[in-house]
Amino acid sequence: RELTVELGERSYPIYIGEGLLDEAGKLFERHGISKKSPLMIITDENIAGRHLAHLESVLQTAGFAVTSAIIPAGETSKSLRELERLTGIALESGLDRKSAIVALGGGVVGDLAGFVAASYMRGIKFVQVPTTILAHDSSVGGKVAVNHPLAKNIIGAFHQPELVLYDLLTLQTLPEREVKAGLSEVVKHGLIWDAEFVTWCDENAGKLLALDADALGYALYKGCSVKAAVVSKDERENDLRAILNLGHTIGHALEAVAGYNELLHGEAIAIGMIGSAKLGVRLGAPEEVYHVTKRVLSRVGLPVRLPEHLDTDEIMRAMMHDKKFQEGTMVFIVPTAIGTVEINKSVSAALVREIVEELK
Ligand code: NAD
Ligand code: ZN
Repeated sequence: RELTVELGERSYPIYIGEGLLDEAGKLFERHGISKKSPLMIITDENIAGRHLAHLESVLQTAGFAVTSAIIPAGETSKSLRELERLTGIALESGLDRKSAIVALGGGVVGDLAGFVAASYMRGIKFVQVPTTILAHDSSVGGKVAVNHPLAKNIIGAFHQPELVLYDLLTLQTLPEREVKAGLSEVVKHGLIWDAEFVTWCDENAGKLLALDADALGYALYKGCSVKAAVVSKDERENDLRAILNLGHTIGHALEAVAGYNELLHGEAIAIGMIGSAKLGVRLGAPEEVYHVTKRVLSRVGLPVRLPEHLDTDEIMRAMMHDKKFQEGTMVFIVPTAIGTVEINKSVSAALVREIVEELK
């Protein structure tokens, strides 16, 4: 499958298919990646042992000069320290203004490598080779960043890739829990935009969990399409991008309170989306919004209840830190039907509290 993302004057292709790593040389060349300047693959330690040699050898055979850099797996690598270290490797390897950085990995590698590409010599070319399901989300929109100890994603830039190459075979080595967590954002893209796709996810959950190539290819294609549609429309309708945060107000609070080790991002927002669905029903959406949301998310293996030991007060406090809180009311992305949401700027905090309690 091939999808073109158009953002402002820039557009770039997303290729999705089985065995695409084998075509990397040809596709890189087609999209203007230079063979005269060295390119640098950035990946993490978990992916390196599985897919790095493959990509290196395909690119070398095609005539590219390749350097690779491996980062420790996990969110803590999205740091200025890692940026500095990778910049050093880039300099030592002779990367110049015509070079490209290739991100082989999930959202962590994509965000960090993308920021290296955005800042090295004031910006060089960038290619994304996503290896997680969640990365369908991070590979569209051009946001790249590292974290500061005081705030996540606070040092960053917009830097669009030249192309995105999604090889479904690389996903076969993903831990099961990461598969499920990634599917959470896929379902989210249906819930905010495309009712038919929600039905499709409901009916094909088993195939998705089994990493069936056709099903997975379609789901990633739809997920990327929705994200691209929302992000490109947002340039005209300010605010629209906010709908991508469905489930995230509660989800971020849960991640903060539970500790990032207990709940993966996708798991936290699954619970958050159930909360938002409950909220939607309380504010007038049909009951099925709640039932369908809960059914789809549980079918793809995600948690739909709040771990009982989490304290409601702490969750509420964490949400209030989440800037969107004002004098007893909160901004919430609320479903009005399956496939449609609204940005409600005056949801009562007391009602949110009730919903959080009900989630246990
Ligand atoms: P991740 O990159 O940490 O990957 C999850 C885990 O899976 C890691 O341990 C990784 O080593 C491992 N892994 C990755 N691919 C593998 C494979 N094919 N086989 C075996 N193991 C593999 O996390 P993620 O969930 O992909 O991304 C999360 C990050 O994405 C966060 O930092 C978040 O801020 C960012 N993000 C960015 C955007 C954006 O618009 N830029 C959007 C959403 C999320
Ligand atoms: Zn998210």
